[in-house]
Amino acid sequence: GNYHSVLEENRRLYNEVQELKGNIRVYCRIRPYLSGENKKQSTIYHIGENGELILANPTKQGKDGQRVFNFNKVFGPSATQEEVFLDTRPLIQSILDGYNVCIFAYGQTGSGKTYTMTGPDSSSETDWGVNYRALNDLFQISQTRIETFIYEVGVQMVEVYNEQVRDLLANDSTQKRLGIMTTSLPNGLAVPDASMHTVQSTLDVLELMGIGQTNRAVSATSLNERSSRSHSILTVHVQGMDLKTGATLRGSLHLVDLAGSERIERSEVIGERLKEAQHINKSLSALGDVIFALSQKNTHVPYRNSKLTQVLQSSLGGHAKTLMFVHINPDVGSYSETLSTLKFAERVSGVELGAARSHK
Ligand code: ADP
Repeated sequence: GNYHSVLEENRRLYNEVQELKGNIRVYCRIRPYLSGENKKQSTIYHIGENGELILANPTKQGKDGQRVFNFNKVFGPSATQEEVFLDTRPLIQSILDGYNVCIFAYGQTGSGKTYTMTGPDSSSETDWGVNYRALNDLFQISQTRIETFIYEVGVQMVEVYNEQVRDLLANDSTQKRLGIMTTSLPNGLAVPDASMHTVQSTLDVLELMGIGQTNRAVSATSLNERSSRSHSILTVHVQGMDLKTGATLRGSLHLVDLAGSERIERSEVIGERLKEAQHINKSLSALGDVIFALSQKNTHVPYRNSKLTQVLQSSLGGHAKTLMFVHINPDVGSYSETLSTLKFAERVSGVELGAARSHK
């Protein structure tokens, strides 16, 4: 009774807020257990009848320990790469119509961000991640319009690490630090010095991404370490010219691989590691604040609180469409991380209860 009425109320508030915003979508993906993880304790979450995610506190029995989260979609452990991409497709088309689309991968390290965005290390088509599928669609759709539009596609890739922005595709190896423009381009990155590379195909983009990934790791002890502590942003700029009218339109796709969201206890780390952790915390919460402000249609959007949000300023909000894939590790040992990930996702999707209530 009580549980269901809470559920109903949550859903009503959610729908109400949902209608207000429209352009921010949050999808949650729960990865399967990996060998070695304890499946017996797998009951910390389940997916409800209406697609809601129910998380159960392993130390609190019964309804008291349960929390319900509503997202645009929850993908369970058996969801395929194709299923996960399906709802993203219409967004890709809109890029060619002149929209900005931002796709984020959020979650603690090991929760499946790389799997969703890149796919597992395999060349099989069924394993392709969102990046590959999105780019493929982009080029394919542009081909179908070849008689009415000419498209030019350019790529930039930058990294935000410890509140510094670096060009991952710089032609020289110095990888100079980049400045940030105070007034940014209409729909690009607010990083005027980042090199732009013209591309013709998905493969061209993937090659550049590979180069960018390698550069990302340059000063790190191991690639995994560094990539989980920095944010990388790949931007695909599309400029189309209508052959009949000569009018041009610009759209862009930002594929953002966020640093691992795991909270690090102050007492556990010192020195560089502590500094990194603080920068990551700061930028992820700044991102959450920005998307939340946008979802509430606030007049003040706090872009200036982190480099990440400054860089993406003109690509979030306005005409932009934002999609966040939030990743969950099913292991019971990750319960508190999972709870904090889901709270972040709930806030980002604009359904944070406090806010929804004050909206009445
Ligand atoms: P992250 O990028 O968040 O650190 P990964 O994508 O590397 O995490 O995922 C961690 C591990 O889990 C990898 O071994 C990956 O292959 C596996 N994994 C993640 N998501 C899935 C999935 N949906 N199906 C199968 N294996 C997955």
